[in-house]
Amino acid sequence: MNYYSTNKKSKKVSFKDAVIKGIADDGGLFLPEYFPVFPEKFVNEINEFSFQEISYKIAASFIEDEIPSSILNAIIERAINFDAPLSRLNENTNILELFYGPTLAFKDFGARFMAEVLSYFSKESKQDINILVATSGDTGSAVSNGFFDMEGIKVYLLYPSKKVSHIQEMQLTTLDRNITALEVEGTFDDCQKLVKQAFLDSEITRNLFLSSANSINIARLLPQSFYYFNAYKQLKDKKKPLIFSVPSGNFGNLTGGLIAKKMGLPVDKFIAAVNINDVFPVYLNTGKFIPKPSIKTISNAMDVGNPSNFHRILDLYNNNLDKLNNEITSYSFSDLQTKKAIKEIYNKSNYLIDPHGAVGYLALEEYITKNHIESFNGIILETAHPSKFADIMEEVVNENIQIPARLAKCLHKEKKSTKISKEYDDFKNYLINQQ
Ligand SMILES: *Cc1c(COP(=O)(O)O)cnc(C)c1O
Repeated sequence: MNYYSTNKKSKKVSFKDAVIKGIADDGGLFLPEYFPVFPEKFVNEINEFSFQEISYKIAASFIEDEIPSSILNAIIERAINFDAPLSRLNENTNILELFYGPTLAFKDFGARFMAEVLSYFSKESKQDINILVATSGDTGSAVSNGFFDMEGIKVYLLYPSKKVSHIQEMQLTTLDRNITALEVEGTFDDCQKLVKQAFLDSEITRNLFLSSANSINIARLLPQSFYYFNAYKQLKDKKKPLIFSVPSGNFGNLTGGLIAKKMGLPVDKFIAAVNINDVFPVYLNTGKFIPKPSIKTISNAMDVGNPSNFHRILDLYNNNLDKLNNEITSYSFSDLQTKKAIKEIYNKSNYLIDPHGAVGYLALEEYITKNHIESFNGIILETAHPSKFADIMEEVVNENIQIPARLAKCLHKEKKSTKISKEYDDFKNYLINQQ
């Protein structure tokens, strides 16, 4: 299977090259040239397969013989070594808990899988691979945990100074060894811009072997389709219309769902739930894509003004706005609404949902109310554990939030970061001096 660039100017490449390059030479994003479709029998008999078996089947159909099956199996076993359970909120609504990985966010799935795959492909290379990651909080810690202490790999995390939570910052800055945290005086979009520019700078790429680990990397994206199938497996009555509500920022998680549907998962509707950073719903309503500077909210991992997977999503639907509107609905919510939802879910169902999941809840409610849907399988993707946002949660529900041990251990370590400005030349000089 080959992978093409969404800009359609560079040549198609193998899976290996797509993973190592991260972004195509023409600046586009990689997508598989077709989507393998599972036989109906597999979907009907999905309950007979474990999460890891489902994951293996999906991965193998995209990677084919580029990774031998025994090795791919071992990669899945190491990367997808925690569960994604479906928790029932009420008769129609379920919460897909994606926070059982080491950094308590769904990004662990993609990051761990990509780290394993990249490490496998880099075994033949003599040069170190430098991973550049722009992070609004959770990506950075998931990626650096995935790559931590892997031989031949160096990770540079760029995060916006003072715009991530205290716990997130400690997760990003306390790993050390092959992980370097760069504290950028700017926004997440500035961080993303710096990374993009470095990839297009031949003075850098001539000397440094670069790879990206943002949600733009195809190896991050594919594993994000695994848990959609596994969520469907856990539904008791599979005949009701299936609706996924996905809290979205860069839209990588949602794209994973769209891929699952293309492979045969019977999804009726995707809802892209966003905070007040609303370029996507505006696009669906008007056909105009107008990137904006991001605005800070309490669901900070979704504070994205120029979603990086936007062009992938367009390409999946041949740039056809009607088709897109058929598949996806999108709604935007304020922080005030988000806090009210957290409180409501806690009071009604005794469930602690984090601010990102709460936006997903609001979007699902809005969709079913507007469309008068009475019986359905609603699945809200809970993208992070509520304790990652303990300060907001405590303020809203007025109770102490327990921080799981795997998260708390970074709080006692020493923060190590290097401050840089948002000017590209500063970043470039820094990278060149690392040689
Ligand atoms: C990254 C992240 C999101 C947004 O996911 P995208 O794939 O960028 O749309 C939502 N919630 C949390 C907790 C995240 O870490």
